[in-house]
Amino acid sequence: MHYFEYHAGQLHCEQVPLQRIADEVGTPAYVYSERTLHRHVRVFDEAFQSVPHLICYAVKANSNINILRRFAEWGTGFDIVSGGELFRVLRAGGSPEKVIFSGVGKTLQEIRYALDSGILFFNIESSAEMDLIHGVARQANKPVRVSIRTNPDIDARTHPYISTGTQKNKFGVSLPEARELYRNMRQLSNVDVVGVSCHIGSQITEMGPFEEALASIRRFVLELQAEGVALKYLDFGGGLGIPYDAEEPPSPAIYAASVACATRDLGIQLVLEPGRVIAGNAGILLTRVLLKKNQSAKKFLVVDAAMNDLIRPALYGSHHQLWPVREENNKEKVDVVGPVCESADFIARDRDVAVLHAGELLAVMSAGAYGFSLSSNYNSRPRVAEVLVNGDSYQVIRRRESYEDLIRLEE
Ligand SMILES: *Cc1c(COP(=O)(O)O)cnc(C)c1O
Repeated sequence: MHYFEYHAGQLHCEQVPLQRIADEVGTPAYVYSERTLHRHVRVFDEAFQSVPHLICYAVKANSNINILRRFAEWGTGFDIVSGGELFRVLRAGGSPEKVIFSGVGKTLQEIRYALDSGILFFNIESSAEMDLIHGVARQANKPVRVSIRTNPDIDARTHPYISTGTQKNKFGVSLPEARELYRNMRQLSNVDVVGVSCHIGSQITEMGPFEEALASIRRFVLELQAEGVALKYLDFGGGLGIPYDAEEPPSPAIYAASVACATRDLGIQLVLEPGRVIAGNAGILLTRVLLKKNQSAKKFLVVDAAMNDLIRPALYGSHHQLWPVREENNKEKVDVVGPVCESADFIARDRDVAVLHAGELLAVMSAGAYGFSLSSNYNSRPRVAEVLVNGDSYQVIRRRESYEDLIRLEE
């Protein structure tokens, strides 16, 4: 559900015509709908209303500080994976006591920064990391709250690059190892064990893998409780998928009902780390057709956005719907490609796309998550502008980079 719709043959974001944004801000540009973001946060939160819970938005999905500021105002917490993300969250006015820190390789500096900031807890991903974090806490003479990210060895049945919960992945700790870690942690003076966590992958479109993970983590919590480990939090991670094309992922309500049902009697507060399901369909990448090019075997639509702006098609072979900004029903089969010097630089291949002419605009849909945040300056292309629409007005929330910006840090 999102607020990108046609009115009088022109694609709008809420009440703002995308043509107007292209005229005034230029292209390419990421355009986000605040109303959609807010709706997604509310729907997700309401789905869990029958159980104590904390929603920690996964910052890496879309980390623009203006968007984080909105989330902070709406009361969400944050799941971070780096010191840089913590910095953004704090600058955006996020409360440290609603921040959790995940990731397999936190530096000493990042651990110290998060500890000094007073975050809610660290998700620990190995026994080596446990030692590091305990060392930092002792040196600082402070208690540190931790949870262990277990790896339940479950195939999330998603793209291998975003599957994280099997023993072949670098993430989390196997259950036998986690069992031992919980025992050993009791001996660590400065460690306060508050939770158990798991996150099995991203863009998961069926309940099966979640159900398996729930059963596994439930058994594990019961076992720990029987051993006298008092846990306050069960962090079930993120990963709920969205419809990019014909997928029909479970709704937040169905997902939440299942999570709540499996955990309600454990007497534990839930933590959820949704990213994509909040931001994905709340944003598009607005691009302009530079030219059309016919090779003997194929027709190409060359647009001004490229893989450095949106790498998902090249990285995951992912599908993004392409909507013409001026409504057009005639279609032709084309490859939509950018100007970057790589054959992997495509937005779509062999796709029936509305017949467009040079200079016309195209919306690459569902680009609000893992779009701008994964962008780069490859080919010395300045990173694009980001725009946040609210009702009938919009705000540029990140200026388009200039050529000067490209070399600013180079000595
Ligand atoms: C990426 C990530 C998330 C968010 O995943 P989505 O699929 O975007 O919901 C949550 N938790 C952790 C630990 C992550 O790495």
